[in-house]
Amino acid sequence: MIELKTPQEIEAMRPAGRFVASVLTALKEKAAVGVNLLELDALAHQMIRDAGATSCYIDYHPSFGASPFGKVLCTSVNDAVLHGLPHDYVLRDGDLLSVDFAAAVGGWVSDAALSVVVGTPRPEDEKVITTTEHALEAGIAAAQVGSKIGDISAAIAEVAHAAGYRVNTQFGGHGVGRTMHGDPHVPNDGRPGRGLRLQPGLVIAIEPWFMQGTDEIYTDRDGWTLRSRDGSRGAHSEHTIAITPDGPLVLTARG
Ligand code: MG
Repeated sequence: MIELKTPQEIEAMRPAGRFVASVLTALKEKAAVGVNLLELDALAHQMIRDAGATSCYIDYHPSFGASPFGKVLCTSVNDAVLHGLPHDYVLRDGDLLSVDFAAAVGGWVSDAALSVVVGTPRPEDEKVITTTEHALEAGIAAAQVGSKIGDISAAIAEVAHAAGYRVNTQFGGHGVGRTMHGDPHVPNDGRPGRGLRLQPGLVIAIEPWFMQGTDEIYTDRDGWTLRSRDGSRGAHSEHTIAITPDGPLVLTARG
């Protein structure tokens, strides 16, 4: 079901967006050579407690999950691109880290993600990261009242294809509200002018993710982490946005 928010409800969603942005900013600063993924999860968990927020991940147990997620953060390193389960791993020079974080404040959810290289970056890793960032910007720019979901999807895919990447459409953006995942699905590839018409009050997460050499993934033995089939590295960028008559409002914008 598509749920539209009133302007007052969109205002009420701002604290969650600001909180999620603040956690990602803190994680980006903390991520460095020698830092354990479990320390990043612990930092996010402490920030949740300090803010009186609620994790969307810790009890998350969808049909495809082996057991409840048990952590508050997704940390995906190198060939891992989505849903990375934080584990006892110390970041090394040149690692490409994607962090995805969703939490509720005052009963409203926000969801966002970013990728960074710790230590010395490789050019091809910087390229895949900036391509997801540019695709996210293009997707947000296309999220205008009267446009269609397919316009967002096509804008994302155009950036990916121009950079030489293929697009996997198994996982993409989604409606956001009282829960983390709602309708509509926002695929990372599609045709302009197709799909749901975008109306004021629609709140969605837009989340391009691309891998350097493939569009195929497999699930790690941990039951969660999704890795590229060919071992190439991937990146992920996500914001939660509200569609308004004044244009897209990025709820998870980082300062
Ligand atoms: Mg997310």
